[in-house]
Amino acid sequence: MAQLLLEIVTPDKLVLSQDVDYVGAPGLLGEFGVMANHIPFLSALGIGSLMYKVGGKANYVFVSGGFAEVSGNKVTILAEVAERPEDIDVERARKAQDRAKQRLDREREKVDFARAQAAMQRAFYRMKVRDTATSTASH
Ligand code: ATP
Repeated sequence: MAQLLLEIVTPDKLVLSQDVDYVGAPGLLGEFGVMANHIPFLSALGIGSLMYKVGGKANYVFVSGGFAEVSGNKVTILAEVAERPEDIDVERARKAQDRAKQRLDREREKVDFARAQAAMQRAFYRMKVRDTATSTASH
């Protein structure tokens, strides 16, 4: 029986509001996991895939930047960007990855390295979230 309420919100919309058993999220200082009765907790979010479990099934959402708050069996993800697998445009992510790769490979001196690396990471995790959802659905 799911005991944690997970809410994922971006400046544009409510991406998810669901009772879950477990949340694993990419904190800026590393992954963290939350189950029911967790102590109150606040963390900045990095770029990655947020995992939540419902009835033993793992689900994934791409997140990038923002904050996570745990309080009273509620996990609130205030993300700058959050996308469910079905909302991810894989072709767009692939193009973003190619652009970032080119910048890192050929224009290293001129480029904002951290910015290009972050773009690579966003593209990588978008494709990962999408791939994981697709491969789970076919099983
Ligand atoms: P791009 O270079 O393709 O714009 P980006 O990583 O720079 O990618 P973000 O700044 O992370 O993009 O996001 C800007 C907006 O575009 C957000 O609303 C985000 O949800 C959306 N977005 C970006 N890439 C994708 C994608 N591959 N699929 C779906 N939505 C995307």
